[in-house]
Amino acid sequence: MKYEHLYVVIEHDAGKPVPVSLEMLGEARRLMDGYNKKYNTDEKVVAVVLGSNARKLCDELISYGADAVIYAESPELEYTRNIVDTKVISRIAADRNLVLKFSPKSTDFAKPRYMFFAADNIGRQLSSTVMAELDSGLASDINKLVISDLKIMHQHKTKGKEETYERTLEMYRPDFSGFLWTTILCLDNRNPDIAREYYPQACSIIPGVFAPIERDQSRKGVIVDYSPSFDPRDLQVKVIGRKIVKSKVDFDSKKAVVSFGRGIKDAPEQNIRLAAELAKEIDAEVGVSLPISKKPYAVSESASSTYMIPDRVVGTSGRKVIPLLYVAAGISGAMHHLAGMKESEFVIAINPDEEAPIKGECDMFIKGRMEDVIPALLEELRALRPKVEARR
Ligand SMILES: Cc1cc2nc3c(=O)[nH]c(=O)nc-3n(C[C@H](O)[C@H](O)[C@H](O)COP(=O)(O)OP(=O)(O)OC[C@H]3O[C@@H](n4cnc5c(N)ncnc54)[C@H](O)[C@@H]3O)c2cc1C
Repeated sequence: MKYEHLYVVIEHDAGKPVPVSLEMLGEARRLMDGYNKKYNTDEKVVAVVLGSNARKLCDELISYGADAVIYAESPELEYTRNIVDTKVISRIAADRNLVLKFSPKSTDFAKPRYMFFAADNIGRQLSSTVMAELDSGLASDINKLVISDLKIMHQHKTKGKEETYERTLEMYRPDFSGFLWTTILCLDNRNPDIAREYYPQACSIIPGVFAPIERDQSRKGVIVDYSPSFDPRDLQVKVIGRKIVKSKVDFDSKKAVVSFGRGIKDAPEQNIRLAAELAKEIDAEVGVSLPISKKPYAVSESASSTYMIPDRVVGTSGRKVIPLLYVAAGISGAMHHLAGMKESEFVIAINPDEEAPIKGECDMFIKGRMEDVIPALLEELRALRPKVEARR
């Protein structure tokens, strides 16, 4: 078969996999186990790793579900650079000789059938540039995957005729703040006027939505070493050092986080102050939803520069927080936001809309407007404080 196997592009930091890499492998394993059973095949889960002195990671990836790992080693791959990584991954994806080392029957192999990337800052860009090189499409920010046979009738794709598309990856993504699911399909053109195939069927996957499989160190797999070559023009950008800048926003040591979202809209300045006051009262850090960091409302310079900033964003485009208490005020609960806070110990949502997705994700839902609820909470907390202090 020309198109076989599921390739998972792994991200790691000096040989330590980032969590989404293991999550993608877990989902890949579950999907391909079902796939191989259903279609009576033996297609593989293939992890693709680029790095320098990171080969030890390959065994770990096998223990987390990979059947094979293609490992590209070079000092040039120590730090990620989009242009370099794109070329290396694209070449790996189209290299039949590599595939024959773990799947000797794949003599017609042209490209992977499916391909996964992480929907994080690196993977979002990398997935688009690799798929452009491989001449196929990409579904971004996916949080549910199904492989099935679909009957499709489409004026453009099938010239109005019903066609069966076997082994199609249905890629679901949450849209409109999670109120709508979109299913994205990467389908060949069966219309003879524009006929062409589209492989791999590829997507980027939201961190935190899939679970890794349990680690099994007795799992067996094949490690295939790959020596990449580079075009000197691609190496003009050099990474000469790396410094991790510590954020002033302290989500890690604070036991509570108070986040606000677009629900501040009716009185933005006042509502930001209320959220900040609540945070101060319970010694919490302040978080925001992504739209807030784009400064959608006119507020004072101090409120804007202190709170409406990317550093405070909770979610797939921002930070992951795991406090004992998470307060979501005026936040609808889109999948992208939930991925950043759903492991919090106790979640309180303040929202007038009982249909908001956050209701299904919180431990306590306070139905109401934040401008009414937060002052009442503050009053109650302040009344309780002397009793709490007395107990200490
Ligand atoms: C690729 C991609 C990545 C993304 N990454 C992130 C991310 O990392 N983090 C993130 O947060 N989002 C992210 N998003 C955006 C996400 O999909 C949602 O659009 C966003 O989280 C919605 O923000 P919100 O809840 O503040 O606004 P809305 O969805 O508009 O919700 C506002 C809520 O406020 C409530 N409300 C209204 N009035 C009041 C009031 N007076 N008091 C209290 N509540 C009130 C409403 O009922 C509503 O539920 C991403 C989107 C994409 C496409």
